[in-house]
Amino acid sequence: MAARPDYYKTLGVDKKATPDEIKKAYRKLARQYHPDRNPDDKHAEARFKEISQAHDVLGDPEKRKQYDSGTGPFATGAGPGGGFGGFGNFDFDASSMGDILSNLFGGAGGQRQRQRQRPERGGDLEAHVSISFDQAIAGAQVPLQVPMQATCETCHGTGAKPGTTPSVCPRCEGRGIETQGQGRFSISQPCSLCGGSGTVIEDPCPTCHGSGAVRTIKRLRVNIPAGVRDGSRIRLPGKGEPGRRGGPPGDLYLITRVSPSPVFTRKGDNLEVEVPLTIPEALRGAEVQVPTLDGSKTLRVPPGTAHGTVQRLRGEGPPKLASGSPPERGDLRYRFVIDVPKELSDEQREAVEALSKTMNGDPRAALLAAARSQEAQ
Ligand SMILES: [Zn+2]
Ligand SMILES: [Zn+2]
Repeated sequence: MAARPDYYKTLGVDKKATPDEIKKAYRKLARQYHPDRNPDDKHAEARFKEISQAHDVLGDPEKRKQYDSGTGPFATGAGPGGGFGGFGNFDFDASSMGDILSNLFGGAGGQRQRQRQRPERGGDLEAHVSISFDQAIAGAQVPLQVPMQATCETCHGTGAKPGTTPSVCPRCEGRGIETQGQGRFSISQPCSLCGGSGTVIEDPCPTCHGSGAVRTIKRLRVNIPAGVRDGSRIRLPGKGEPGRRGGPPGDLYLITRVSPSPVFTRKGDNLEVEVPLTIPEALRGAEVQVPTLDGSKTLRVPPGTAHGTVQRLRGEGPPKLASGSPPERGDLRYRFVIDVPKELSDEQREAVEALSKTMNGDPRAALLAAARSQEAQ
């Protein structure tokens, strides 16, 4: 069974604290450790949970009385589920979170209003860029047009006609929320008149019709790093939509569309090239010219090269993204394929006949023998 937590200590109040003192202590701590203020902080999250539990008990006169006297759900040695452990594992679900938020800020609408008045980061954008294979390997600077929301220059984002100012919303008196009911069971929601902003615009700006934002097309030149592939996602920090009320701009994500090369095929970090060999080249070996990314090279094909054999030029392939400067590079892989003519001239047919007289073994003999011995078993 869980040890009985000291809820007075959790809230930092005296055992004789008045309900008002408890409420004040809770509000102060809850604001400090609120997950909104401490994103991804596990410690703050745990503290917030403790504080909420403590308040749930000490903030309720009946539960507090039971807690003080060690009766009811707080009785030690009570049966399973009725004991303190059961209560201690209070389910911290979304609905109790909503309750806490509504106690703290007067409902989700109140929270929204708080955010509306703070500087707000601009939205992230996504755009597709089409580039050639060569641009993808070498990197490129390409022009781009991105549709985005921008602050209306006529009203500077207020939404009000120049010379006028938004007035305080008469329905919510600027709070941005409407509350129905009383106490713990009240429901708060964004004000239906002002939508939570707390202000109403009587004379809307003629340019943006009161929204404070206009759709524009931003023209940019973007740097595509060397080594991107078809479908790469590149983040350009700060190139997204402008922030509101002095907030930072969002990010722009580029998705690259790379047109295929007639020569090179992407295989992970490497590029592959199919190199045809004649039958005599495969038999006798040869020196063959092959294309590279910046010209050509000679490869030595050893005698007796089988169809599908791969030779590679290490580190001569495409640059690897985000691998430093100078970047690491993948490999160029050359796959030899034996070029079998569909038709033969008379002269070639004679040469093949002559060849078959000396190369007349049966390469399938071992295969068939193995198949037979398997059947016999
Ligand atoms: Zn405007
Ligand atoms: Zn309102």
